[in-house]
Amino acid sequence: MAIECLVLGAGQEVGKSCVVVTINGKRIMFDCGMHMGYKDKRQYPDFDLIPDSCDFTSSLSCIIITHFHLDHIGALPFFTQNRGYSGPIYMTYPTKALAPIMLEDYRKVMVDRRGEKERFSSEDIVECMKKVTAVDLKQTVQVDKDLQIRAYYAGHVLGAAMFYAKVGDAAILYTGDYNMTPDRHLGAAQIDRLQLDLVITESTYATTYRDSKYVREREFLKAVHKCVEDEGKVLIPTFALGRAQELCMLLDDYWERMNLKVPIYFSAGLTIQANLYYKVLINWTSQKVKDTYVTRNAFDFKNVCSFDRSLINAPGPYVLFATPGMIGGGFSLEVFRQWAPCEKNLVTLPGYCLAGTVGHKLMSAKRPTQIRLDEDVQIDVRCEIHQLSFSPHTDAKGIMDLVKFLSPKHVILVHGEKPKMAMLKERIESELAIQCYYPANNETVCISSTHHVEAGASDAFLQSCLCPNFKFSKPNSERDSDLDDSNKRTIVCDDRVAQGILTLEKNQNPKVVGQNEFMEVLGVENHGVKFAHCCPIYLPDSESRDASGRSPSALLRLIFEQLSRAFPGFDLHDCQEQIRIRSFVGSFCSKEKCLHRTDVSLHSRVTHLCCSWSLADEELAWKVLSIIKNLELANAS
Ligand SMILES: [Zn+2]
Ligand SMILES: [Zn+2]
Ligand SMILES: [Zn+2]
Repeated sequence: MAIECLVLGAGQEVGKSCVVVTINGKRIMFDCGMHMGYKDKRQYPDFDLIPDSCDFTSSLSCIIITHFHLDHIGALPFFTQNRGYSGPIYMTYPTKALAPIMLEDYRKVMVDRRGEKERFSSEDIVECMKKVTAVDLKQTVQVDKDLQIRAYYAGHVLGAAMFYAKVGDAAILYTGDYNMTPDRHLGAAQIDRLQLDLVITESTYATTYRDSKYVREREFLKAVHKCVEDEGKVLIPTFALGRAQELCMLLDDYWERMNLKVPIYFSAGLTIQANLYYKVLINWTSQKVKDTYVTRNAFDFKNVCSFDRSLINAPGPYVLFATPGMIGGGFSLEVFRQWAPCEKNLVTLPGYCLAGTVGHKLMSAKRPTQIRLDEDVQIDVRCEIHQLSFSPHTDAKGIMDLVKFLSPKHVILVHGEKPKMAMLKERIESELAIQCYYPANNETVCISSTHHVEAGASDAFLQSCLCPNFKFSKPNSERDSDLDDSNKRTIVCDDRVAQGILTLEKNQNPKVVGQNEFMEVLGVENHGVKFAHCCPIYLPDSESRDASGRSPSALLRLIFEQLSRAFPGFDLHDCQEQIRIRSFVGSFCSKEKCLHRTDVSLHSRVTHLCCSWSLADEELAWKVLSIIKNLELANAS
C-alpha cells in the first residue's frame, strides 16, 4: 500500500498549485491553479504527466479546489473545457460562488486589456462551474464507495478550506493556503485531531515569525493617512476578493474613527459585487464579524464607493483599490504608470509578490528607481512604497503548530520558496521527528500508507491480560522520616504486562495467543531441558540386621518419609516404583551402565535411584538428592 504524490505545481515555488495524489488506487487532484508570473506553457500545470492522460475523467476520481485564488483554480476551466475532464469537482459553497467572479475578472484583464491569447471564454467558466459540487465544512462526502473527503475551515480567504481524504485506512490532509491566526474579517483555521499518513501543507512563510498584527496594521493606516493629508493619492493593488475586503474593513473603520472625508474607491464593479457576496456569506467570516452582524454588517462600507475612470487624474487626495494585485497588469498597472512619478503618492504592496510582476520588481528596488515595462515603456518611480507586512498566510510558527497537532507520519511542503522550505524541512524532521519532503514541480514522492488488520485473541491470552501484577513500594523512608505513620502508606501499582504471540495462519485472521498455547497452534511438542542424575544409595553391610533383606519398595517408603519431613509443604507422590516432587522424578535404576551415573565405586552393597528434573526445579532437585545421599538407613525400621 502506498501514497503517490505527483506535484504538478507549487513545487519549490508559489503559483499554479496542483498536486495529484494517488491513495490506494484512487487518484485525486488537489487544486488546479495557474501561475500569474508566466505567459508561456509554464503558466499551467503539465497535465500530460498524469497517468492515463488520454482520459482524465477515468484517471481521476475527483478534483478538489481549496479556495478561489487563481493560483489554486486558474487552470480549472481550461482543464474541464479544453482537456475534457468531466468527473466530479468539489469546493465549498463560498468558493463556488466567488470563483467565477475571480476567473471572469482575470479573463477580462488578460484578454481585453493585455491582448493575450484567450485560454478560456466566459462560457467556459460558466460551463465549468456547472460541474462543481459544493460542500459544507465538516461534511463527509462519499465520492465513491472507497473515497471519503471532508472540508475544514482554513481562514485565509472567504470559503478557503483544508481537505481531508481517506481511502481504506490511508488518510491525508491537503491544507491549501491557511491562516492560523484570525484576521479582521476571517477566523483561524480549525481542524480535528486526525489520524494521518500525510499532510501536504503550504509554506509561503516557512521561516517568518510575525509579531502582533495590530502594530503592522497601524503602520499601514499611518502611511495611508499621511499620504492623503499631504494631498497624495493612494493606490492599493489587490485582487477582487480577499485582501480587498480585509483592507476595506480596516480603512472604513479608521475613516469612521478619524472622521476622514477623503474618498475611498473600488476600481471595478466586480469588487462591489464581491462585497455583496461577503455580506451574504457572513457565516464563513470571523466570530467578531458574526457577533456584530446583528447591529451592523461589517461589509456595509460607509466610505467606499465605485470608481470612474475619469477620476484618475482628478485633483485632490483619494484612496483607490485596483485589480489585479501585485500590479501584474490591467488597471492597477495603468494607474501605477500615471501615479508612480509623483512623490506625494503612495503605492502599497502585499507581503508576497510573484516573480515577473511589477510588484516584485518594486519590492527589491531602492527609490527613486526606474522600471522597464517593455522595449519602449519605462516608468520613473518616485512615489512612496509601503509593503504590507500582514498576510492571510500562516507564519512558520503556525505551520509547526499545525504539523505538531496533527502529527502525521509524513509531511510534504508545497507553495513556498526552495531555500526556506529546506530550512523548515530540517526543523520538522529534527524537532518533530516527522519525515518531510519538498519536491520540485513534476516530481513524485512515494510514501507507504497505513493498512489496519483486525486481529483476534485467544481466551487464554485475554485471561492472562486480566491477571493483576501488583508492585508494592514504600515511600522513601529517609525523606519522609518527619511524616507521621499514617502518611507512610505503601504505594501499590499494577504493572500489567500482556505477553502473547501474534500468529498468522493461512486463510485465517491473525490471532494473539498465550505462550503456552503457541506449541499447540504449531502442533509440536514443547522442547524442554531436563537434568538427570543416577544417585547411588549405599546400603549398610549385610551383617547389619536392620537393613538386610530390605526390598526396593521398603527403601522407597523410607525415602518418602524422610522427604515428607524435609518438605512439609510439598505435594509428594510415591506412585508405584517412583517418587515425584513437582518435575522431580526418581526411580530405581537397573541398568548396568546408566549414562547418568557418575560414581565408579565398586561397593558391593549399592543401589541406584535414577532421577530427572527440569530447569525450574533445579534448586529443589539438589536438596532432594542430598537427602537421598545421606539417608540414615540404620535408624530406619
Ligand atoms: Zn490563496
Ligand atoms: Zn496560494
Ligand atoms: Zn540410572
